[in-house]
Amino acid sequence: MMTDASGIVLSKVGKVFGTGERATVALEPIDLTIAPGEFLAIVGPSGCGKSTLLRLVTGLIPRTSGDLTVFGTPVTGPVTDVGIVFQQPILLDWRSVIDNVLFQVDMRGLDVEAYRARAATLLKAVGLADFADRPPYELSGGMKQRAAIARALVHEPPLLMMDEPFGALDALTREQMRLDLERLWLETRKTVVFITHSIDEAVLLADRVVVMSPRPGRIERIIPVDMPRPRGLAARKDARFLAISDTITGIFLERGVFHHSPA
Ligand code: ADP
Ligand code: MG
Repeated sequence: MMTDASGIVLSKVGKVFGTGERATVALEPIDLTIAPGEFLAIVGPSGCGKSTLLRLVTGLIPRTSGDLTVFGTPVTGPVTDVGIVFQQPILLDWRSVIDNVLFQVDMRGLDVEAYRARAATLLKAVGLADFADRPPYELSGGMKQRAAIARALVHEPPLLMMDEPFGALDALTREQMRLDLERLWLETRKTVVFITHSIDEAVLLADRVVVMSPRPGRIERIIPVDMPRPRGLAARKDARFLAISDTITGIFLERGVFHHSPA
C-alpha cells in the first residue's frame, strides 16, 4: 500500500452493535484525520469504544455509518497492510522467537526465507537479538511484547496499530517500552495509532492525543503535544507534559470518569 498523503480519514464513522432494544452504541459518528507518519494516541476509559475504533479502521468489523479511507483506499474489508499489537502478545511456544515473527509472513503467503534477515534486524531493533532462536516461554512479559512488535512490523506495513500494548506490563517495564517505542518510531516514522488508558503514556508518546468520553464513545478533545523528542525520563517534569495531563484529567473529572473522593 502506498502511504498516500491523505493519511487515514474518518468521516462520521460510527458503530452500533446489535439492533433494536439490544443495540449498543459503541462509537458515535466521529471525524478524525491521521497524518502519514503521525504518532496518534487515543486515551479513554474502558468501554468507550477504543478497540472498536481500531477494528473499524483495520476493517476487521464493518462500520454502521460514515466514510473511511486508509492511505487513499476506501476500507471495505480487512486492511492487510497494517501491523497490530494487542495487550496479549499470543506467541506460539513451539516456534522460536524469530519463527514467531516470521509467522506473520507465513500467514500472508509470503516467502518466509526472503524475510528472515528483516526479522533478525527487527529483533535487534527491539532488543531481542540474543533471543531470536529461543522459545517464547523463556522471555519476560516485556520481551514477549517486543517480539509482538517485531512481528507486527515484519511485512513492512506503513501503519502500526497498538491496542493497550503495555497494559499487562509492570510500571518499570512499561516506562522502558515507552522509551524504546519512541526510538523505534523516530527511526521508522510509521503512522502509529496507540490506544491506552494511561494519560501519561498518551502524552509522553503522541504528537496528538485524542481524548474519548465514556460510553457511548465520542471524541471529547484532540490535544497536540508540542514537546521535543526524544522525550526521555525527564519529560515527566516538563511543564507542557504536566499541563496537558492536567487538562485530560480535568476532562475525565467533568465526564465522571474520575470522581473527587470525599474529604
Ligand atoms: P474499549 O476498547 O474502549 O474498552 P470497546 O471498543 O471494546 O471499548 O467496546 C465499546 C462498547 O462496545 C462496549 O460497550 C462493549 O461492550 C461494546 N462491544 C464491543 N464489541 C462488541 C460486540 N462484538 N458485540 C456487542 N457489543 C460490543
Ligand atoms: Mg479495548
